[in-house]
Amino acid sequence: MTVTTRLRRARKRHIACGGYCPDIKPGDLYLEHKEFPGGEAGWADAAGHPVRTAECRACSERYGRAHYFKEVP
Ligand SMILES: [Zn+2]
Repeated sequence: MTVTTRLRRARKRHIACGGYCPDIKPGDLYLEHKEFPGGEAGWADAAGHPVRTAECRACSERYGRAHYFKEVP
């Protein structure tokens, strides 16, 4: 497993979904995906260190990850 995903509540603004979605604002819930070098998506290979991306709730639900939002902190 080279990607970890967890539910987070934003403390600052985050670019959502690579910039395709409106920014995640402080207080919003979102999913943080952390990919390590060698991972399938290849995001971290060029960077050479783990890369974190933020996914908004709407996309998370669209792609079948709504279950994460049941663990609201
Ligand atoms: Zn999104």
